Amino acid sequence: MAFGEMADVVIVGAGPAGSSAAHYLAQYGLDVLVLEKAVFPRDKICGDGLTPRAVSELIRMAFPIPESEGWVRNYGVRAYGGGHMIEVPWPDLVSQPNYGSAVPRLDFDCRLIRHAQKSGARLREGVTVTSVVKDSRSGRVIGVKARNTAEKGTEFTVRARYVVDAGGVSARIATAAGREKNPRRPMGVAVRTYFESPLASTDMMESHLELWAGKPGSSELLPGYGWVFAVGNGLVNVGLGTLSSTAKPTGIDYRKIFRTWIENVPEEWGLNEETRRGKLRSAALPMAFNRKPHYADGLALVGDAGGMVSPFNGEGIAYALASGRILAGYIAQSLGRMTLSRQDRVMREYPRELRAELGGYYTLGRVFAALIGRPEIMHLCVKYGLPHPTLMKLVMKLLSDTYDRHDGDWMDKLITALTKAVPKA
Ligand SMILES: Cc1cc2nc3c(=O)[nH]c(=O)nc-3n(C[C@H](O)[C@H](O)[C@H](O)COP(=O)(O)OP(=O)(O)OC[C@H]3O[C@@H](n4cnc5c(N)ncnc54)[C@H](O)[C@@H]3O)c2cc1C
Repeated sequence: MAFGEMADVVIVGAGPAGSSAAHYLAQYGLDVLVLEKAVFPRDKICGDGLTPRAVSELIRMAFPIPESEGWVRNYGVRAYGGGHMIEVPWPDLVSQPNYGSAVPRLDFDCRLIRHAQKSGARLREGVTVTSVVKDSRSGRVIGVKARNTAEKGTEFTVRARYVVDAGGVSARIATAAGREKNPRRPMGVAVRTYFESPLASTDMMESHLELWAGKPGSSELLPGYGWVFAVGNGLVNVGLGTLSSTAKPTGIDYRKIFRTWIENVPEEWGLNEETRRGKLRSAALPMAFNRKPHYADGLALVGDAGGMVSPFNGEGIAYALASGRILAGYIAQSLGRMTLSRQDRVMREYPRELRAELGGYYTLGRVFAALIGRPEIMHLCVKYGLPHPTLMKLVMKLLSDTYDRHDGDWMDKLITALTKAVPKA
């Protein structure tokens, strides 16, 4: 096949995973081309929450998030459940700052890809990648086919030494290459919208740990939790996520549950139809490495395309950014090797590092997903656990992945030991 264009690396999708990979690859001096089907600024259905882990990735990328430019900061989680409320500040860690942030993805993703462009990455917007191109003899992925949606659907091909699927939960390119999702891994579904709220300047992320199908206390408890995050400009992002320990559809009417839940959020938030700004929209969250391998035959997966959302809390941005960073390092190293087999030997370290970093943590997350899949257990945990600050501090560290892997306090050491004791996802 005659290729129209060439690049060292082609990245499919300019979400956080694609932008992170593009930024680092460009900094390594590689020619990186990002193909994005949307045109920026574009929205992405999300809670917009950045935990300290996500902020630590932004700091590494030298991506500034100054409060003077409207980036809000939060300093912990305020959790409600079982008739109790507790505030747990973000811990003081070596590996992460003690603050998080939140900014609408409409703005965040646009700034992030511009940052990657400043580092030297090339971006083509309004381009949908439709499939991979494989070498007819070896079966190795050597490029992509794409359609220019802006220019009457003209088609073209790009040849690359590596192709990266950063296309989010749809993982169209990975699927086209035969990498199906594992139906036995947990899957979340979440809905969110925005409201104008008098409490929009709060500096805590609110979590409502019990999700009732109807009146709290006297209706069915559902597996999942609700959130309210301040995102600046007088707005809060409000949503709820439900979790299933497998990819089987739950049959839950999320919109109905959302309406009921909103009626029970403390009145001072002022959440109602008059203050709502935006549609209620939902999307899936692929968790616990539900699509693998993360690298084989010239094709790498990052972020949601590789099922990297945390089963503990539905957070995916930090892992999207981290996987882009880790992948870029191995691609840069591998391209210093002369033969394909030597390059692939280096590239196999990418999934190994991901597994070493997150495999045990995600296995614990799968146990958690199975437990909260039985909401009566969650109810008991919340009712008897929430009044105990030390226990909640430990739980919050585990749920939000805010612990030091090395040289932490006794809680960090306990979580690290647990992640090492279980098989890796
Ligand atoms: C309701 C909801 C709330 C959430 N809340 C949070 C939260 O508060 N904090 C958090 O950390 N995570 C949250 N998440 C998860 C988070 O949104 C994802 O984990 C994150 O966006 C993953 O980033 P990504 O770059 O892998 O994929 P995406 O952000 O989905 O980006 C993929 C990009 O690829 C493009 N693309 C796809 N296919 C193609 C193609 N064929 N050709 C060209 N381009 C393509 C898309 O247009 C998109 O721009 C939430 C998710 C949902 C659904």
